Parts: sequence; C-alpha cells; structure tokens
Amino acid sequence: MPDRDATYDLVVLGSGTAGVTVAQRCREAGWRVALIENRDFGGTCALRGCEPKKVFWTIAGAVERAQRLAPHGVAGGAALRFDWAAAQRFKQSFTDPVPAQRRESLEAAGIEAIEGQPRFVAPDALEVAGRRLVARRFLIATGAHPAPLSIEGAAQLATSDDFLDFPEMPDSLLFIGGGFIAFECAHLAARAGAKVRILEAAERPLEKFDPDLVDRLVAHGRTLGIELVTGFKAKAIHPEAGGFRVEGATGDSFQAARVLHGLGRVPALDGLQLEAAGVTLEKGHLPLDEFLRVRGNERIFAAGDAAGVGPALTPIATHDAKAVARSLLEGCTPRPEQGPVPSAVFTLPPLAGVGLTEAAAREAGQAYELRQGDMAEFQSVRRMAEPCAAYKLLLEPGSERLLGAHLLGPEAADIISLFGLALRQGMDAAALRAMITAYPTGASNISAMLK
Ligand SMILES: Cc1cc2nc3c(=O)[nH]c(=O)nc-3n(C[C@H](O)[C@H](O)[C@H](O)COP(=O)(O)OP(=O)(O)OC[C@H]3O[C@@H](n4cnc5c(N)ncnc54)[C@H](O)[C@@H]3O)c2cc1C
Repeated sequence: MPDRDATYDLVVLGSGTAGVTVAQRCREAGWRVALIENRDFGGTCALRGCEPKKVFWTIAGAVERAQRLAPHGVAGGAALRFDWAAAQRFKQSFTDPVPAQRRESLEAAGIEAIEGQPRFVAPDALEVAGRRLVARRFLIATGAHPAPLSIEGAAQLATSDDFLDFPEMPDSLLFIGGGFIAFECAHLAARAGAKVRILEAAERPLEKFDPDLVDRLVAHGRTLGIELVTGFKAKAIHPEAGGFRVEGATGDSFQAARVLHGLGRVPALDGLQLEAAGVTLEKGHLPLDEFLRVRGNERIFAAGDAAGVGPALTPIATHDAKAVARSLLEGCTPRPEQGPVPSAVFTLPPLAGVGLTEAAAREAGQAYELRQGDMAEFQSVRRMAEPCAAYKLLLEPGSERLLGAHLLGPEAADIISLFGLALRQGMDAAALRAMITAYPTGASNISAMLK
C-alpha cells in the first residue's frame, strides 16, 4: 500500500521521454522517486506523436512508391491503395502495449507510478489521487498540448491525437494552421483518399524550413489534392450537414467533414495550481533559469516540451532531461547548448533541415554562398521514381564551412543527421566531399551536392 502522505526525493509529473529519463537516473542513484501521469503512461512520442505517425507514413510511402514504380516492374502496383483502417490496426499494435510496458518498467526500477491529476498545495507538496506527496525536488515534464484557439466553434476542432486514432479517414479535411503536424497529417490523409485544405494565417507555412523547398513541397502536394490557402484568418467554425464550415475574417469560407488543429503546441501546465507553489507563469510559460529550474521555487525543475526552451522535439526532451538529472544529482550546472538540431517534416517526400536557413543567416549578418539544385534526376531518387526532390546548402564564403543544409526528398530525414554531424564538427565542403560513404545510397549524393 502506498503511503497516503509520503515524502520523496523527487516527484516527476509526466511519463514521456523527459520525465522517465530523469526519474530513472535519479532512481538509479538511490533516490526515492514517484512519477505521476494524468493520461495513459507513455508520453506523446510513443503514443500520439513520432512513433504512431511514422507507422502510417511508412505504409503510405510504401504504397506510393509501389504505385510510382508500377510501370517499372512492380506489377499490379498501380492498383494498390493505402488502407487507413488496416494501417490503424497495425499502428495500434505499436501503441496499445506501451502504457502497461511503461508502467511496468517504472515499477520494476523501483519508481512509484501514480495515475491522476496533480495540483500543488504548497511549495514542497502536491496532491494527487487523494494523497499528499511531499518532495525535495519536483520535475514538470508534462509536455505540450494544442495551442488554444479562441474563435467561435473552436471546441469542434479535432487534434493530431484524434487524427492518429481515426478508425476511417474522412473524405475531406481542413487544417487551421500550417505547422509541421498539419503538413504531416495532410500528406497521410491525402494518400488515404481525403481531399485536404490547409488554412494558414501567415503568408508562408513551415516558416522554420527553407522557403524554396517548402514551395516545391506545396506545389507537389497540390498535385495530390492538398490545397494551401495562405493569409486566411479563421473566425468561426460552424457545424453544418456533412461536417463543418470554417469562416474566415474576410467572409470567405471552406467546408469539410472534419476540421483539425494545425496551429502548434504550447506547454501543458493547466490545472497544476502552480501559484500554490509560489510560481507565476510568464505568458503561459514557466519562468526558468539556466539550470531549467523554476524561478520562484528552486525545488521545481522542468524539461522537454513543458520547459519549452529548445524546439519541441523528442531528442531535445532527452537533452534537457539529461541536463536536469545532472543538476539534480551532481549540483546545478547550466543546460548545455543543444547545438545544431536536425529536424524533419514527415511528408511524402520528407522535408528536413539543420543549421542556418538563408533568412537566419541574413538576420545574423552571416555571409553565405549557396549550393542548390534539383535532385529528381539523381540516380538514388530516380530509382524510387520520386519526382519531388531538391537540396540547398549554405557555405561560408572563402572557407566553405558548412552553415546549413536543407533537403527535400525520399531519404532527406536520414541524410540530414549526417549534415548535423558535419555542422557539429565544423566541417567544410572539402571535408564533406572527402567523406567516403556507402554507395550507392542517398548519402553518397552529398559530394554531388557540393560540386
Ligand atoms: C503529432 C506529433 C508528431 C510528432 N512528431 C515528432 C517527430 O517526428 N520527431 C520528434 O522529435 N518529435 C515529434 N513530436 C514532438 C515530440 O512528441 C515531443 O517533443 C516529445 O514527446 C516531448 O517529450 P516530453 O517528455 O517533453 O513530453 P510528452 O511526451 O508529451 O510527455 C508528457 C506527459 O505528461 C503527461 N501530462 C500532461 N499534463 C499532465 C499533468 N498535469 N499531470 C501529469 N501528467 C501530465 C502527458 O499525458 C504525457 O504523457 C511530435 C509531436 C506530435 C504531437
């Protein structure tokens, strides 16, 4: 029986990557640790993010490749289709076991796993599931949730959680917002037969990625039935027969069976009653020092999407968590700079980038020269019959040191990590050209990109 009123070395809020990493490291050091989760154990990446979406992406990509290669030896390929309902069952074979496995592994490590909605009641105590837990340290690793949208009918918005659980794909979808999650879901939905429209308020979507490659991706998406509308500010969502109508600020409107949230995510801090712990949020964010410690209460640390310090990505959650664990166990040391972060939008084909974009280089006053081009005629891309592929590399003039790499194409999401390593090592074009890669692979195109 757990103590009703127990004292811990560490209480962790959230069973995702960040929370579990810190909990395990502190437990290994002999700390008494409890971990609280208010939904299924497992976190976003494993249950509602990276992993399940990549299952769908893999299947949609396999079907599309077979279709494209139908004239070149994949007999019957043209008749194949992406069966969303079957793929959903396959996805569940990955996600369904996670909550029990995550819980069991925590308990096997000697971490007390508690289900419930925690709320602070004092600077060193919180209440959860009818219990009061006192602790020397707390970690807020509650992740993120879709950014609130205050327009009429916003409650009708489905989220990426809903999308990844759709038993069948609706015949038409509208995304309000053109972030990476909207693009990824849109590409899957279109392959599953839906007519898709992305409604973006800004003039450009995917603003952190190279705009020329984004334009190519958007143009390619259009050939697949994915329309992008920019400069559209949603004003209201109205239910109507067969679905919903999204009304824009200038009176134009679009109709679809489902309307989805594509506006990005914000730290999930609702209901924690942080004021009882002496913490005041700043514009919805935890005020953090260089140790990821919460200003106002030095017992509390944060990591991952809840901290919101680095990009909201799983490897950053791990990076933060390791830094916090080190601070907890060895004394406070500042969160190390994360360095270049390769990231990918898992569209079909994927878009990826690392290091400076042209806009960021200009803003930083960094001179650059470009190596850029179409990759559709590269052998490795032609073999996959992929018509949409391109690259752009930024080099420092004179030294030819790599400053940034941006890729669109079938293997972009894998190759980008090599460029991330090159950036981290300060490599120049000559060193990259001299790198011996396995051949013939997507990576062996790197020297051709640098000609
Ligand atoms: C659709 C989608 C696709 C993504 N794809 C990628 C990708 O391809 N690559 C990538 O690197 N990243 C991706 N991400 C982002 C990635 O999932 C997150 O950056 C990562 O999961 C963050 O880990 P975390 O531990 O900070 O938070 P989470 O994994 O979100 O874990 C937080 C946990 O806290 C729980 N929680 C929330 N509130 C409370 C509370 N009050 N009390 C107790 N528990 C609470 C949540 O239920 C959750 O289990 C994706 C995200 C989404 C939504």
